Amino acid sequence: MPELPEVETVRIGLQKLLVHKTVQTVDFDWPKSFPNSKQQVDAFLLGATIIQVRRRAKVLLIDLSTNYSLVVHLKMTGQMVFRGEQYFGAGHPNDSLIGDLPDKSTRVTITFTDASKLFFNDQRKFGWMRLLPTAEIPNIDFMKKVGPEPLEPEFTKEVFVERLQRRKNTSIKAALLDQTVLAGIGNIYADESLFIAGIHPKSIVSAVPKKSLFLLHTAIVDVLKLSIEKGGSTDRNYVNAEGKKGSYISFAKVFRKENQPCPNACGGIIEKLRVAGRGTHVCVHCQKLYEKE
Ligand SMILES: [Zn+2]
Repeated sequence: MPELPEVETVRIGLQKLLVHKTVQTVDFDWPKSFPNSKQQVDAFLLGATIIQVRRRAKVLLIDLSTNYSLVVHLKMTGQMVFRGEQYFGAGHPNDSLIGDLPDKSTRVTITFTDASKLFFNDQRKFGWMRLLPTAEIPNIDFMKKVGPEPLEPEFTKEVFVERLQRRKNTSIKAALLDQTVLAGIGNIYADESLFIAGIHPKSIVSAVPKKSLFLLHTAIVDVLKLSIEKGGSTDRNYVNAEGKKGSYISFAKVFRKENQPCPNACGGIIEKLRVAGRGTHVCVHCQKLYEKE
């Protein structure tokens, strides 16, 4: 599942390449990946020019000149690949980013009037691309429920602590993964930021001191910014870098580092536990467990 930095990497790439392009044709092979009526596609997508590419949580919003938007959720295995005067591909790391397209993972192909193409590939078919009136997007159920964007200025330390109160009796990791608390944080960035803040993922939210929650806020913002700088958790040069398939976040301190020495050189070993139903990486020396009295 891509997390916020991976989707932001896709957004940045598409924003540079798609703006001002005009849609000529659309092909799709799997109706669930492109659940739009022919009338809507004909009226609001064909002939439309792309205005901008936005992101909310892990959802991409491609705004069109028709006041409609393509709302894209990459889910588990989605990826966006552009082929034209430049090559760009990001999302789920596999050979479709560099191979001939369309291939068997291609669900939607959008051809622009300059003959460049945008491919929405999705091996497992959980993702989708929906055409919706731009003005209606804030009213869709997901958008109404989703928590604040961690990289927006509105996401202050105080807002973070307040949002966490919704989940005060759960583990801090479960609270971070809850998209209504905070948008876009998944397993990797939850583990990384809890390690940096020195909080054990099993700690109960209400038992964690405010000071530590403030540290966690800073850690989340820092980790996300660093990851976006690095092009997400998959190698940003993947498209040009043969043999780097599935290359991993080189800056991760604990994620998938089980049985390795703690990067704080505390003498401890990173352990893998299960918290909130997810594989969780922790140094029990450096991360304090806050439990209820
Ligand atoms: Zn340690």
